[in-house]
Amino acid sequence: MQRFEYHRAADTAAAIALAARAPEPHYLGGGTNLVDLMRENIERPRTIIDVTALSSAIEARPDGGILIGAGAKNTAVAEHRAIRERFPMLARAILAGASAQIRNMATVGGNLLQRTRCYYFYDDAAHCNKRKPGTGCDAVEGFNRIHAILGASPSCVATHPSDMCVALAALDAIVHVEGPGGRRSLPFGAFHRLPGDRPDLETALGPAELITAVELPAGAAGLRSTYRKVRDRASYAFALVSVAAALRIEDGKLAEVRLALGGVAHKPWRAATAEAALRGKPAGADAFRAAAEAELAAARPLSGNAFKIELAKRTIAATLSELAGARP
Ligand SMILES: Cc1cc2nc3c(=O)[nH]c(=O)nc-3n(C[C@H](O)[C@H](O)[C@H](O)COP(=O)(O)OP(=O)(O)OC[C@H]3O[C@@H](n4cnc5c(N)ncnc54)[C@H](O)[C@@H]3O)c2cc1C
Repeated sequence: MQRFEYHRAADTAAAIALAARAPEPHYLGGGTNLVDLMRENIERPRTIIDVTALSSAIEARPDGGILIGAGAKNTAVAEHRAIRERFPMLARAILAGASAQIRNMATVGGNLLQRTRCYYFYDDAAHCNKRKPGTGCDAVEGFNRIHAILGASPSCVATHPSDMCVALAALDAIVHVEGPGGRRSLPFGAFHRLPGDRPDLETALGPAELITAVELPAGAAGLRSTYRKVRDRASYAFALVSVAAALRIEDGKLAEVRLALGGVAHKPWRAATAEAALRGKPAGADAFRAAAEAELAAARPLSGNAFKIELAKRTIAATLSELAGARP
């Protein structure tokens, strides 16, 4: 592990000022991802700025929305009463991830920025455009069972590993950030990037920008919602495919549908095609399967992960059927 300086930031302004002038800075949340990567020599920051003292408040607003400080621990978010009542899919998504001990350490800011679990990214001897831009991607022709089927590029087929982020995508969360240039708010769909030819650039964050909070707008509050994760083991495993879904049914028809997929793309995948196909349709197994087919029409399998296409279709249909109370 490379030697580094450690600073504990007392507030947002101090963290940003330090990051703006320090050599090769990295913010530190719970450290559950970054410290692993430093031990493996994949991340080599020269300055660590601990931001765990920043806001961890969870503010349930009277309009139905919730503002979550970036320092809030994953466990605190999943257990918060207003989150469980208003946005059950988010609590379920967080509880489907990692282990209780890791969730007790991991922060909301860190969860958004956790790195891929692509084996080749972690293997310093492998070619990886994400780790070393311009070196190639060994996953494209390699062991790619866990890799992307949607939105990938010849440069990178890695997936985003977060469960929480899949729910945040479906909920149209807003990411509040602050940096040397001031504050701004990013719609969740614009926060993470698809790989294109720069898979090393994973988000829209600029240099020294800090995530300060994540906002859940009132729009999806109170919808029937859930999160379903399919993985190789029943616990302590990343998603092969996951689905965050919410619906509102009026007179047997789908008045509102929100759908996002995990484990299938470089970013949490908002299933806009399926949503559009479902709006106004009678809630039922046929419509759910047809919408899943429409969403996955764009899927491009690699040599080892074609199974994910059918798995994603079935998981979408089963999750929506469960929510609608229909027979899958
Ligand atoms: C064994 C294991 C199993 C896991 N299983 C799952 C799983 O099934 N599902 C899942 O979703 N996750 C899983 N995780 C990942 C875990 O959720 C993440 O490691 C965790 O959410 C990262 O949060 P952190 O606060 O520890 O981030 P850190 O490790 O501290 O930081 C991660 C990144 O975020 C940056 N960062 C942190 N805070 C901020 C901020 N406020 N602003 C800007 N940048 C910031 C850091 O610089 C770093 O680049 C697993 C982890 C482990 C170790």
